Amino acid sequence: MFKVAPILAFTDNYIWLISNPDTKEAWVVDPGDAQPVLDKLAISGEELAGILITHHHPDHTGGIAKLLEHKNVPVYGPANDKIKEITNRVKEGDTVEAAGSSFKVIEIPGHTLDHIAFVYDNAENPAVFCGDTLFAGGCGRVFEGTAEQMHGSLSKLAALHKDTQVYCAHEYTQSNLYFAREVSPDEQAIRDRLSRTATKRRHSRPTVPTPLSIELETNPFLRCDDQDIKASIETHSGKTLPSPVEVFAEMREWKNNFVDP
Ligand SMILES: [Zn+2]
Repeated sequence: MFKVAPILAFTDNYIWLISNPDTKEAWVVDPGDAQPVLDKLAISGEELAGILITHHHPDHTGGIAKLLEHKNVPVYGPANDKIKEITNRVKEGDTVEAAGSSFKVIEIPGHTLDHIAFVYDNAENPAVFCGDTLFAGGCGRVFEGTAEQMHGSLSKLAALHKDTQVYCAHEYTQSNLYFAREVSPDEQAIRDRLSRTATKRRHSRPTVPTPLSIELETNPFLRCDDQDIKASIETHSGKTLPSPVEVFAEMREWKNNFVDP
């Protein structure tokens, strides 16, 4: 079994370090910057063995070239000409062997069209590395795909085992939960989660990963078929929204313009 540690990059990116405690082999997910990874490896004594990439954005790929200068390792990622360092282009259903474990590739377009996730669907310790698609308490912006694609991708992630640990790529939880509270002011579970999150952030502690079960309960973007959320989004947008995709699209638009209290 692998262990996972966060490496903070820029202001709020997490580069996830997946390592095998027996072999000291380490893989990194979405190294937007190389130096924090090299610093971490120097301290831990682990050896870089490979790189996993979820999508082409520079804050997820900018450190690949420098890491490859440090050590020539395989780079698994989506087919996209913008990421020229990728050695193994993977797609839905492919399997990647990393740090002694098997990760399944799923395609989750919407934030970008090339976005993929790496799923460890072992019944004991399920995990997903989902980049900028599902965040703790929220979801990524829809830059390249359609609302329908993003909603479909979030539904795909929501269907994973409920104990799956969600390793997203940014520390956006507190801001996301302010928005979730705005959408559902009466939901005690959201208020409780916001309070726990605020405490962690006051001590600069990561709020991720989180189990999918918590997301299913408190992340409004995974609950577009909930009648109370639908009513809240309809009231805010002034529109009738017959389908969960339309609820999602309006909620995402609202969040794009939402300012933290
Ligand atoms: Zn991104």
